[in-house]
Amino acid sequence: MIQEPGREVIKSMLGNDAFLLYDEIYNYISDNYNMDKVWDNGGKYGKYVIRFQKSKKTLCTLYIRDNQLGVWIIFGRDERDKFDKKRDIFCEDIANIYDATEVYHDGKWLMLDLSNDYYIDDIKQMLLIKKKPNIKLTMCGYCCEMCKAYAPNIRKNDERNELANMWKKYYNLDIPPESIYCDGCRCTNKNARRVDNNCPVRVCVMNKGIEDCSECVSYPCNTFMERKGLSYEEAENEQKELFNPKEYQDYMLAYDNKSRLDRKLK
Ligand code: SF4
Ligand code: SF4
Repeated sequence: MIQEPGREVIKSMLGNDAFLLYDEIYNYISDNYNMDKVWDNGGKYGKYVIRFQKSKKTLCTLYIRDNQLGVWIIFGRDERDKFDKKRDIFCEDIANIYDATEVYHDGKWLMLDLSNDYYIDDIKQMLLIKKKPNIKLTMCGYCCEMCKAYAPNIRKNDERNELANMWKKYYNLDIPPESIYCDGCRCTNKNARRVDNNCPVRVCVMNKGIEDCSECVSYPCNTFMERKGLSYEEAENEQKELFNPKEYQDYMLAYDNKSRLDRKLK
């Protein structure tokens, strides 16, 4: 495992076109799946590799090369059955690559080398075959599954000391670690504990009977903007040499609500 290279490093290697593809796949996975992002050296397949995985199961692997993005998705037996049932929705090239790829004992290793966005929709469909999306956004577009204050995450691995430091660093918030605990924005338990029990965005969304702010004609209103989290670029600009891509991904990406909702609206 290596430290995550920053977006500028990845962009300079991939070039503009392949970086847009990387960004699109990376954001699609981040917006839909609760996955760990594990970076490593790419060996003979590329300079860097990022694996999107959970409990040692890999959803997809991206290889970063000069002006080219490599995408690997492995289909087991069930996934191959699903692909066969849906094969009409895939373009001819993807169907041909699928047919030409051998099946090994651990599955069919589909390898796609991308330099334009021609296969992006097919790749998203392949990811949907691999796994159903398992992220539900908060009403303002935060992501509880990524948030270290979320009770299930605390039970799994308590990182509240680190989170308190990150909230101080990025938002100048002084919240003691022992006060950090949240059952999540959408928890329906009447005794649910939340970091922000009086969130005005949550009340507004519930009163309007909508799913989240992206469905509102007033989006992004002032109330929303008061709860807007920092995007990667904003955090990098504010922190300058103190910015650390990995700590942003691990602790702050959960609150990048405007980028997420803007993507939903595209
Ligand atoms: S603090 Fe916000 S993002 Fe974190 S678990 Fe609570 S509602 Fe979800
Ligand atoms: S008015 Fe603002 S806070 Fe309320 S739902 Fe619309 S965008 Fe969200």
